[in-house]
Amino acid sequence: MIIKQLVDEDFINYKKPSMFIGFPSCTWKCEIACGEHCCQNSALAQAPNINVSIEALIERYMKNPITHAVVCGGLEPLDSWDDLQCFIMNFRYWSGDDIVIYTGYNEDEIQDKLKWLSLYEPIIVKFGRYIPGQQPHYDPVLCVQLASDNQYAKVVE
Ligand code: SF4
Repeated sequence: MIIKQLVDEDFINYKKPSMFIGFPSCTWKCEIACGEHCCQNSALAQAPNINVSIEALIERYMKNPITHAVVCGGLEPLDSWDDLQCFIMNFRYWSGDDIVIYTGYNEDEIQDKLKWLSLYEPIIVKFGRYIPGQQPHYDPVLCVQLASDNQYAKVVE
């Protein structure tokens, strides 16, 4: 599986210490929507690819007693849907810990994918495009600040 970033112990994106996996691609929908260069993750697209097996990722997570969740983040995890599905299915075999997905899609755009994700709970999804020029707000599900008013997180059911 190709990723762009791997952080074994991330304390920024979720209320629990997490392994952070940075997915490798995006269609730049936030920039298309607002008509300007606004993506704060865009530099990641130029970062070298990291080729890592799903088994190695899971083994690394399971051996770390500090982390209690996995965060799948940007670029856009749902644009690597086959790899994301494969990772989730394998991870669930070994662990019931939280899986958090940061997507720029709106909830109504990904109903089919949410239905599939609901089979592998507990999964938390952060929805919504990045819109520049807004004040960050506290999200009570993630317990972190989100950048745009339209963004929120929800437990998938
Ligand atoms: S979904 Fe994420 S990576 Fe894609 S354009 Fe929006 S902020 Fe950037």
